[in-house]
Amino acid sequence: MWFERVRALTLSLTRQRSVTNTEGETSFGPWLYDQLAEWPYFRTRPECLRLERTLDDRRERYTVFARVHGAGRRAVALCGHYDTVDVDGYADLEPYATDPEALLPRLIERLEREARSAADLRALADLRSGDYMAGRATLDMKGGLAVGLAVLERFAAQPQLEGNLVFIATPDEEDSSNGMRSAVRQLAELLPEWGIDLEAAINLDSGVGEGDDGKAVFLGSVGKVLPSVFFVGRPTHAGAPFDGVNAALLAAELTRRVEANPALGDPPGAAEEVAPPPVTLYQTDRRSRYDVTTPATAWCSYNVLTYTRTPADMLDMMLGETRAAMDAALRTLETRAAAYDRVAGAAVHAHAWTPQVLTWAQLEAQARSRGPAAIARMSALRDMLAADATLDIIGLSQRLIEAAAREAGLAGPAAVLCFASQYYPQVDLGQGPRAKAFLAAITAGTYAIAASQHARPIARHFLASRT
Ligand SMILES: [Zn+2]
Repeated sequence: MWFERVRALTLSLTRQRSVTNTEGETSFGPWLYDQLAEWPYFRTRPECLRLERTLDDRRERYTVFARVHGAGRRAVALCGHYDTVDVDGYADLEPYATDPEALLPRLIERLEREARSAADLRALADLRSGDYMAGRATLDMKGGLAVGLAVLERFAAQPQLEGNLVFIATPDEEDSSNGMRSAVRQLAELLPEWGIDLEAAINLDSGVGEGDDGKAVFLGSVGKVLPSVFFVGRPTHAGAPFDGVNAALLAAELTRRVEANPALGDPPGAAEEVAPPPVTLYQTDRRSRYDVTTPATAWCSYNVLTYTRTPADMLDMMLGETRAAMDAALRTLETRAAAYDRVAGAAVHAHAWTPQVLTWAQLEAQARSRGPAAIARMSALRDMLAADATLDIIGLSQRLIEAAAREAGLAGPAAVLCFASQYYPQVDLGQGPRAKAFLAAITAGTYAIAASQHARPIARHFLASRT
């Protein structure tokens, strides 16, 4: 019974295409609200259903809140996002990407024609087994929302039960988290209005932990920052490499030090699990067309995950790595100038540069100290960038730093560090009495009930590393 209902709900949610930052995302909230408003439970209790527009958001999109009550004030939130990543990966099957029943036979047909690798063959066997539903967001995470809705429905039919459920479906998880950040503020008003208190929240996302160890329950989630570095070099003509400092070399040296380096990850033993080491998400120069002058500036962004460290810890770590990277890059230039001197007899010498490493706060203070005209130009730029819906946080950070570097007269070789995305703090249950009670409830529910109904084991992971 559960299975059929969750399957039907998943199909219906998936068919509403809702890619982040598109029209489909804007209309999904009102559509879901209308669906729930048809439920007998909400028809007689319209005050238990709310559609709220996200706050301080340049885009129009909505969160759906639905409350079902039993006895008492205590409540559990069931949370999920309805926006999805894009459908480009489906290539010629893109028109079927959000129609699971039409997509499945076509995917099987395509794999029968094209399957080569072991992974392709495994996918083909899985899809033929009938145990899988294909389609954008069936896994991440409309299937999870469907589970939440099915539970809500079942709970609504048993008003004598103790406790309350609050279902929350948010937009914009895949980009800037405007949905959940707004929902937290909106809940602060809704909960007192409804006269209930949140005891716990469950993220319905089910896309994690399905591997060889079977299904898993995650008791927390990893923290995430995006330290980013703007490098200023000294441009030089391609025929005179030792007269300048190539910003691309500075960036490359930092990336070499940071990429997948466990020494820059969480200290061992500090938490139940060790977070994956940092990786590079961007490494580009900032030129827009061909030029025989070396790149003047470059940009790197690194995804850093943590279970234990504060943003200040990670900023310190990145400042240290950036200083070391600049020193190493300049030493490389000196060594190579000497080597070139030996082979070409060219009497070249690398300059004795003094590299600077600044934080965004330090650079901004330097720019502002140039006087009221500089301050006015910077704040006009900030307003203009904030109004530009095509810029993401990285694009906005780059433009602000470039302008501040100009105002401050920052000369290369230099590096400016900032965080160029939302900060996602790590979350764990903690050790308090509520955490212990929740853990006991999860243990009883998951391992006693669910485990008896599933052939595959259900593992317990302390922290989720996927975000
Ligand atoms: Zn998700």
